[in-house]
Amino acid sequence: MLDIRIERTANPKEKPDTSKLGFGKHFTDHMFVMDYSTDKGWYDPRIVPYGPISLEPSAMVFHYAQELFEGMKAYRTAEGKIQLFRPMKNIERMNATCDRLCVPRIPSEDTLQAIRAVVDTDKDWVPSAEGTSLYIRPFIIATDESLGVHPSHTYKFIIILCPVGSYYAAGINPVKICVERDYVRCVKGGTGRAKAGGNYAASLIGQQKAEQLGYAQVLWLDGIHRKYIDEVGAMNVFFVIDGVVVTPSLEDGNILPGVTRDSCIQLLKKWGIPVEERHVSIDEVIEAHKNGKLDEAFGTGTAAVISPVGELFDNGNKMIINNMEIGPISHKLYDAITGIQWGKTPDEMNWTVEV
Ligand SMILES: *Cc1c(COP(=O)(O)O)cnc(C)c1O
Repeated sequence: MLDIRIERTANPKEKPDTSKLGFGKHFTDHMFVMDYSTDKGWYDPRIVPYGPISLEPSAMVFHYAQELFEGMKAYRTAEGKIQLFRPMKNIERMNATCDRLCVPRIPSEDTLQAIRAVVDTDKDWVPSAEGTSLYIRPFIIATDESLGVHPSHTYKFIIILCPVGSYYAAGINPVKICVERDYVRCVKGGTGRAKAGGNYAASLIGQQKAEQLGYAQVLWLDGIHRKYIDEVGAMNVFFVIDGVVVTPSLEDGNILPGVTRDSCIQLLKKWGIPVEERHVSIDEVIEAHKNGKLDEAFGTGTAAVISPVGELFDNGNKMIINNMEIGPISHKLYDAITGIQWGKTPDEMNWTVEV
């Protein structure tokens, strides 16, 4: 149990108009902060007014990117309750990322307590309009004032919160994506499995290239064979080929083990829809499309839940999927997961946790 000190703001901010929230633009009144040193371990857990933090220019995070993060949401139900969706999955993943980046772990129950406490402090910021939620961004940064290359001895763990708008305010629009043949986002033995800011820095160039071609996201291929599909943008990816749902397996360690990915797999199994976690090559997907067997493609992640893919572009080959419309399996998964998250349908999977 953490003994969290709470210092409330004297100047609460005006809440943004819920119809204009967007994503990651508005931040709440408070944040959670906890420090680490080798002598003290994690210490001084506190909730303080949201605001700038002061670091030396030599702080290690600025030079060697020893940083990691998580992303999850709090949802307001029709009865006004606030609930989290499978928070322990995010918390366990954060600790797995800590291990990969030589950052000291935080006991899972302490992280859950911190998330609950800061969300509860800013509970009035959890929006209630259809499709809106409170995005929760926990992150850890290395703060040693040193340019030596080694794991830091001091860290800050911070949780910030932002009310976010409905991802699909204008309806679920399938996106156009393009296969990236030059750049890769990770290689076997790298940090593909970790939720590290550095992965995002390395992926920006591919994203920029896609946008210049008029595509919303990149389909990443594996770094060794340049053949097997890893992820789409910063989402996990699924294909429905001839009635079977296939998704890249976690085995190679290239892929971020998404909470939404796992939820989709569990629901598909429960419904008796065949689902396979295995290598999926780009050639298999192109071949399936050619034979009229590529029924659906979609990305999964906390922000969008399900993001249907309407067009896949590769080297001049434009492949339209399901007539640029959301397919039945994508739709069923979207309705089931969002139904549980906002408390519209009974939570038979026991996935929600009240704040
Ligand atoms: C966060 C993330 C995902 C999605 O994970 P969820 O837990 O479903 O939000 C997928 N891929 C990458 C690279 C990510 O960073």
